[in-house]
Amino acid sequence: MSPYQHGEVFVTEDGAETDLDLGHYERFIDENLTRASNTTTGQIYAEVISKERRGDYLGGTIQVIPHITNEIKRRIGLAARSSNPDVVIVEVGGTIGDIESLPFLEAIRQMRKDVGRDHVAYIHVTWLPHIGATNELKTKPTQHSVHELRGIGINPDMIMLRSDLPVNEAIREKVALFTDVEPRAVIPLATAAVLYEVPLLLEEFGVADFLIDRLKLNASAAPDLADWHMMVEEMRKDKEPLPIAIVGKYVELEDAYISVRESLYHAGVAHDVDVTIDWISSEDLEKGRGLERLDKVAGIVVPGGFGYRGIEGKIIAAKYAREHKVPYLGLCLGMQVMCIEKMRTIVGSDDPNSTEFDHTTHYPVIDLMPEQRDISDMGGTMRLGSYPCALVPGTQAARAYGTAIVHERHRHRFEFNNAYREVMTKNGLVLSGLSPDGRLVEIAELADHPFMVGSQFHPEFKSRPNRPHPLFKAFVEAAAARLDAAEK
Ligand code: GLN
Repeated sequence: MSPYQHGEVFVTEDGAETDLDLGHYERFIDENLTRASNTTTGQIYAEVISKERRGDYLGGTIQVIPHITNEIKRRIGLAARSSNPDVVIVEVGGTIGDIESLPFLEAIRQMRKDVGRDHVAYIHVTWLPHIGATNELKTKPTQHSVHELRGIGINPDMIMLRSDLPVNEAIREKVALFTDVEPRAVIPLATAAVLYEVPLLLEEFGVADFLIDRLKLNASAAPDLADWHMMVEEMRKDKEPLPIAIVGKYVELEDAYISVRESLYHAGVAHDVDVTIDWISSEDLEKGRGLERLDKVAGIVVPGGFGYRGIEGKIIAAKYAREHKVPYLGLCLGMQVMCIEKMRTIVGSDDPNSTEFDHTTHYPVIDLMPEQRDISDMGGTMRLGSYPCALVPGTQAARAYGTAIVHERHRHRFEFNNAYREVMTKNGLVLSGLSPDGRLVEIAELADHPFMVGSQFHPEFKSRPNRPHPLFKAFVEAAAARLDAAEK
């Protein structure tokens, strides 16, 4: 999954590597999802082919309908049974007319027959382009895609009109008229100033009421959205800006770090500051550009990544943070980089490295885990998903979490090399989180620094808008303190 094409790879508790949309679902519904919530075309075909090889189809001819579509429906059923929910939301990616999505659309069309007409509702999300020259929102693409959808046998019950500009009543009525969808089920969805306001807007437009009617659900009470309202109020307030640098390899595409960006935002709201992100390309730093930008921020985040490109730039950022005592949060690779940089200063050479980037280093500070050495298959063989971590009392990490054991999500192959524990802890590295058996370093930090903490896991996957992640919260607190001190 190239970050350039997919954006971030989101990781679930049970270690599935999924589309970033799943991260948004978790942040909005505040429930941990599982691998059952993400299905790709490749998984469907792989399953059908292996069933065929096993003889499950008794030698029958395999076809898209029914074999592929049945497998898609089986997967929807698995997700439905995994947690006994009231409603299963099935999002089909792509656009009507995509070749790839046809079997998925056929499968959801059949669902209405399978589970009953009153138990399936189709919501069609469309886009209203804005024509600047005439200053109008165009409904034609919506009309056209509804026709396409009808052509494959799906009648939308509701249409969501995504738009960058406000959608007026006339447009709503026009869409209702042309598409034969009830006017109250044509929902204007202009880009909100605050992302987390969207559920409130949906409620205001009666989306839930319509669906409760449509799906004949029992809803005994109105939803209690008071806390969410209050949270959005907080988010909308004008706040002091807090500039934070994210130093990464894919900074042209913010989607590649979407959970990191959201986590910083959540923590900012909690501290009443407006985190503004300066996206710094680590390759620029390598070329000697952009160092002055590190001077202007109150904190530095080095997020996860793979491969050597841009690594030396991230090391420059870690060095800058250490020397200038700028609060630093290292996420996975960001923790590894922080340890490599520290070891380089201890030995006074730039030989220390991760064996991911340099096989010949004399100081493999970061190295493969023994059980990973013989793996040749690179797909899905990383350390993935949730693992426990024991915090060491008295450390920054333990203070941030305020608890003894935490569970965090991983996605990496390399680890801190235990051969360097002694020399590095003697020189100011603190190992503040370990696997409960003590074998793996999960969090490292620097003594004698206001906040320089790196985690081998990805805390960004567990931050929620109303429950910012403790490490992000502590990092933003340290950055805000630095800014305060600078202003005095
Ligand atoms: N490339 C590193 C590893 O595999 C870090 C991975 C990451 O940042 N997610 O260990």
